[in-house]
Amino acid sequence: MYGTGLAKGLRLTLRHFIESYIDDVRYGFRKYHHSTDNFGIRQGTQTKGVITVQYPDEKVAVPERFRFVPFLIVEDDDHPTRAGKDWCTSCGICAKVCPPQCIWIVRGNDPDTGRPVPEPEGFFIDIDICMNCGYCAEYCPFDAIKMDHDYELASYDRTSHHIHDKEKLSKPNSYWRAIAPTRAYDEMLVRGTWEHKDAAKEARRGSASARSSAARPAAQQATPAAPVAEAEAAASPAATAPVEGATPWSEDEAKREERRRKALERKAKRAARGG
Ligand code: SF4
Ligand code: SF4
Repeated sequence: MYGTGLAKGLRLTLRHFIESYIDDVRYGFRKYHHSTDNFGIRQGTQTKGVITVQYPDEKVAVPERFRFVPFLIVEDDDHPTRAGKDWCTSCGICAKVCPPQCIWIVRGNDPDTGRPVPEPEGFFIDIDICMNCGYCAEYCPFDAIKMDHDYELASYDRTSHHIHDKEKLSKPNSYWRAIAPTRAYDEMLVRGTWEHKDAAKEARRGSASARSSAARPAAQQATPAAPVAEAEAAASPAATAPVEGATPWSEDEAKREERRRKALERKAKRAARGG
């Protein structure tokens, strides 16, 4: 019948209007007491009525998958070996895939040799051009660039404030884990570690060199059997197992270690045969 849809719509609006007052009574008129929990409930799925958010004093929480301007992940300040280090290797993939081409990267060079190093010297994003598509974060092979939740970036001077440089873009890994715990956890499972892959490798390399330097004095008292014993020791599962306290290996790293162990076993056998 003509006008039925209109009547249904008005009934719904009226119901929300009345339920807003019922909710006010139910939650003890506490919305304006800035009680975070209460505000969350009134803005969540449990609420029946409608309330006006007094922005900017009150803000609705954004969902985990919300994406605004990207930021770069750096290692946490309390990391034992890589505090403050970039996860970005300046590979340039994000700049290539960015549809409006608003990313500029300056690759870093070793000051002594002049050779390129896997970290950016400069990283710039023009946030006026960025369309928040999230491609850069999707394509980054090192989990180094992520979409931020901070949407309050307006300023009076766009020329100086809207081109974000590396300093402005860099945020610690713990920040990413706080704003997107589920995604950060999923990525950790794939990567095999909470920190950057290199940190885990460096930790293992450090432990391996500590092991070999501790073993060296004994090996230097060279008996003919020493090379055999050394090769056997290096090939033993204990020697190639993950170091206690180190970050667990990813599947790929575990396979690589297994191949390395088998190669060392073959070497030990050859040494025993005198070949
Ligand atoms: S953010 Fe990721 S994709 Fe972009 S340059 Fe750095 S490592 Fe490469
Ligand atoms: S979110 Fe999209 S537009 Fe913005 S920098 Fe990343 S790829 Fe470019």
